[in-house]
Amino acid sequence: MTSPVPAFWSPRIGALEPYVPGEQPRIANLVKLNTNENPYQPSPLAIDAIQQAAANGLERYPDPTSLALREAVARRHGLKVEQVFAGNGSDEVLAHAFFAFFQQAEPLLMPDVSYSFYKVYAQLYGIACELQPVDDGLRIDIEAMAARARGGCAGIVIANPNAPTGIGLPLSRIEQLLAACPDRVVLVDEAYVDFGGESALPLIDKYPNLLVVQTLSKSRSLAGLRVGFACGQQHLIDALVRVKDSFNSYPLDRLATVGAAAALKDEVWFKTTRDKIVDTREGLSLQLEDLGFEVLPSQANFVFARHPQRDAAELAALLRERAVLVRHFKQPRIAQYLRISIGTREQCSVLVQRLQEILTETP
Ligand SMILES: *Cc1c(COP(=O)(O)O)cnc(C)c1O
Repeated sequence: MTSPVPAFWSPRIGALEPYVPGEQPRIANLVKLNTNENPYQPSPLAIDAIQQAAANGLERYPDPTSLALREAVARRHGLKVEQVFAGNGSDEVLAHAFFAFFQQAEPLLMPDVSYSFYKVYAQLYGIACELQPVDDGLRIDIEAMAARARGGCAGIVIANPNAPTGIGLPLSRIEQLLAACPDRVVLVDEAYVDFGGESALPLIDKYPNLLVVQTLSKSRSLAGLRVGFACGQQHLIDALVRVKDSFNSYPLDRLATVGAAAALKDEVWFKTTRDKIVDTREGLSLQLEDLGFEVLPSQANFVFARHPQRDAAELAALLRERAVLVRHFKQPRIAQYLRISIGTREQCSVLVQRLQEILTETP
């Protein structure tokens, strides 16, 4: 970056390339399939808990340890509460983990196609990254990554299922990475795991270098509440707590703590809404294929698809003119793909209709 740094800025601020979230425009009757939000409401138990907490007053600070939430996570996943850390969205949890574990002499390893926020955190904290190319099917090359890790690294970060491809890895592949990188943390970001992925949480007692991060934004419909958590052996959690308590003692407010804890206890609501999304995803994938798209196999609440004859950026713009938002990433290797979040069945059928119109009416 050669642009001059404005007065008052710390020297490194001008060089940052911040993450750009998907847009949240105010358009009437918008079909919003661009940020992987859940189209269904959160559990009514969560709403009740939030309303009750608000009625009980907000004049006191919340519990700085978010114990009620961490207990709910521990109970749901068969962990000890000391193995759970909670934060203001998993993005914050990820940032703390980067700060706590990856500031090392060697570079941090990550796939070249992955959640684009990882590179932003690395830049913020001055962590060098080494991007491992995914294969031609956009699959993470575990053999290559494990081999590279054995040569020494600051750690590994992957999303499983991966973003924005939706492709999941079996646990045996995660174990391969954990074994290849025993002296550094392997961070597995499971933002989408509930939609069909295989969670690494059962491996925590076996691997002292495993940190698993999850969010309530996607499968629990609580993107607006901002709650995420990390699970790992206590020595990793202790490091995250040290970072958190050097940054913000109260990242989770009273409403978020109780709302998230209640949502984690509503297994019926969770399964019902999750199953609808998985079912809609499978139907949408087939419909997109009928329209000529190539659709990657998804284990997430979105699909990643390209049309061999049509430019992806142009398709996204034409959809936007028709009040349908999908996400397009202007990035090498994936510039011809669209990432389409799974909405309700009605929203997805509007998308398919609009795509049909575009493909037949525009050159
Ligand atoms: C959505 C997402 C997150 C962020 O989740 P929040 O808890 O809403 O901050 C993290 N990682 C990946 C891969 C995601 O897609």
